[in-house]
Amino acid sequence: MPIILNDHFTQTMIDMTWREIKELADENAFVILPLGVVEEHGPQLSLGTDTYLVYAKCVLIRDILERKGHKAVIAPPFYWGINQATGAFPGCFTSRPETVMAIIQDIIESLANFGFSNVFGVNHHGDKAHGKILIEAFKEAVEHTGMNARYVLEHRLKESYGLTGTEKHVTFLGPEVIETPETGFFDIHAGAIETAQMLRYYPEQVNRQMAGELPPLELGEDDIQRWMAGGQDTVALTPDGYLGHPADYGRVKVQFEKYAEGIAEYIFHDAV
Ligand SMILES: [Zn+2]
Repeated sequence: MPIILNDHFTQTMIDMTWREIKELADENAFVILPLGVVEEHGPQLSLGTDTYLVYAKCVLIRDILERKGHKAVIAPPFYWGINQATGAFPGCFTSRPETVMAIIQDIIESLANFGFSNVFGVNHHGDKAHGKILIEAFKEAVEHTGMNARYVLEHRLKESYGLTGTEKHVTFLGPEVIETPETGFFDIHAGAIETAQMLRYYPEQVNRQMAGELPPLELGEDDIQRWMAGGQDTVALTPDGYLGHPADYGRVKVQFEKYAEGIAEYIFHDAV
């Protein structure tokens, strides 16, 4: 029987030779670093959802940059981030902040040593603790390496991360670059949006029948705050591990191409 290998990371540095990496560095290729986690995503999606989705985004961004005439390369996906909200569910690997800090800095320092000048971190995991430490790690890395290393962030989120909008370790996306469509639900985790996104790019990772049978789950404002804080409260509030209405996936228009176009524009603007 043939062994079927997962080929989702084949377009990253992992599948290249050192000579190819050197050539790309010599050509000042932009490095795109996918940032995700291994996290439960309801009973209908796999733990790799965030890592897979950010990888899909990075492939699209890379292709757009190359169509515009600039070399780009995808770094090995990072998926040992922080799961504060859902950390009490089995399957949610979570790292200490200092671990994330250290690994991200090591990755960026390695890229600098290879000869790259630009690295853009693209994240698909909304956990606040995760985003916060990634932004700090990029800041530290810039100070240590002098590299143009930037975390890609929607401009509207800058206050929530205590940023002014002028930081050199962040690429701020304008309001026109919107990733998530409206679904009528507070759909921040494993709801219709991520179910639709996974069906679009990795249909074999979705239990479609299960998704279609899940009842909607809505939380009020206070409960959302409790949910984000994590622990057993989160499990009690969302025992199946999702928010929103996964069964509505058919109504979601996945907009990764448009989102990737937007990011590519800002990368061009911020690259050196
Ligand atoms: Zn997710």
